[in-house]
Amino acid sequence: MTDPARHITTELVHHAYQAPSQFFAPQPAVHKASTVFFDSVEDMRKRRWLDKSGFTYGLHGTPTTYVLEERLCSLEGAQQCLLVPSGLSAISTVALGLLSAGDEVLIPDNAYGPNKDFAEHELARWGIRHVLFDPMDVQDLQAKLTPATKLVWLEAPGSVSMEFPDLIACVQLCRQRSVTTVLDNTWGAGLAFKPFDLLADGGSLGVDVSAHALTKYPSGGGDVLMGSITTVNQALHMRIKLTHMRLGIGVGANDAEMVLRSLPSMALRYRAHDASARTLAAALAQQSAVVQLLHPAFAGAPGHAQWHALCSAAQDGQGAAAGLFSVVIDPQYEQAAIDTFCDSLALFQIGYSWGGPVSLVVPYELDSMRAGGRGQVKAGTVVRFCVGLEAVQDLLNDLAQAWQKAFHTPWQTAPIAPSN
Ligand SMILES: *Cc1c(COP(=O)(O)O)cnc(C)c1O
Repeated sequence: MTDPARHITTELVHHAYQAPSQFFAPQPAVHKASTVFFDSVEDMRKRRWLDKSGFTYGLHGTPTTYVLEERLCSLEGAQQCLLVPSGLSAISTVALGLLSAGDEVLIPDNAYGPNKDFAEHELARWGIRHVLFDPMDVQDLQAKLTPATKLVWLEAPGSVSMEFPDLIACVQLCRQRSVTTVLDNTWGAGLAFKPFDLLADGGSLGVDVSAHALTKYPSGGGDVLMGSITTVNQALHMRIKLTHMRLGIGVGANDAEMVLRSLPSMALRYRAHDASARTLAAALAQQSAVVQLLHPAFAGAPGHAQWHALCSAAQDGQGAAAGLFSVVIDPQYEQAAIDTFCDSLALFQIGYSWGGPVSLVVPYELDSMRAGGRGQVKAGTVVRFCVGLEAVQDLLNDLAQAWQKAFHTPWQTAPIAPSN
């Protein structure tokens, strides 16, 4: 169990796990089973998996998945955890567990795209309506809440455009209306802020559910897909857990092991990704072809004040902001120039996802991703960078050479002012 006197970094290293006699070692064992044997028919009838008092079948949990669930509860400040095979599966399982025909779900317009897609193409077939709201306008959220609204998704910041919403105000509003909130907490990852204790004073205000793509920072390798659904309310957990069981969702023991192996280094990696991302973001912001920097730790970025209120105390006062940011390129540059820039990068690979050791870059056409317009994001192509663990000077050099090749303008290197 979590020791509240200890830092999360320590909690991720020291497991509550009980090792077999004389085999206490850094990693817990990897237990694999579909079938679990019972001592007798009577034992079979008595054993319970729902409250984790016993093991009955591999799909219902193993000692390995239980340890991982405990670690993730420590990370997010949660009481209960469910493991699912991807971050997207966390999203869909929460929706299927908590919504019924006739219900409405509200999703921010800048949310992770497949969340909107799932609502549009799957939930709609079950008679569940989804409505998009402006993530930066609490009044828009308020106006769209109806008696049929049963679930509100939140994401801080938005996946590609990086606007940081007023999470506290959104959660307060939903609390007043008794609407369940679920946060996609992949970016914050349990390190930037506490999703179940947004006021950081003991849990008086928090989201109801946190969905986390463990694929990103908890895995850290770009080689595992997994997700988690954490809660602090047993009844809410049970509703999702029963749906999860009936859908037949589970994770492989080897994948659970990989995440367990990566968790102890997660806080260090997060800090390193964050520091490099801020250095690169500051350098890119100085280029004349960049019309806007979308990184919530920088003054002037959409939602900077909200980021500051929630995340600036983390990481010993450095603030926490992950390794992800975007820039908007001046619309005078053609798509071909932006493609050339991305293609000319040698260290940044072109690829989806983030949280791994290799830096990634992807250009996005924001207009086609939004129903309600670009909001606070200026006109131009959005290029998103996911900063890996390479030496930051090498990444800077790589950006500079690709920039000159694509945009035929010199790379500016004025001194960089610190952010936060
Ligand atoms: C990657 C991601 C997901 C989905 O995770 P997968 O494991 O790739 O399915 C969900 N939400 C956010 C914000 C993500 O970045």
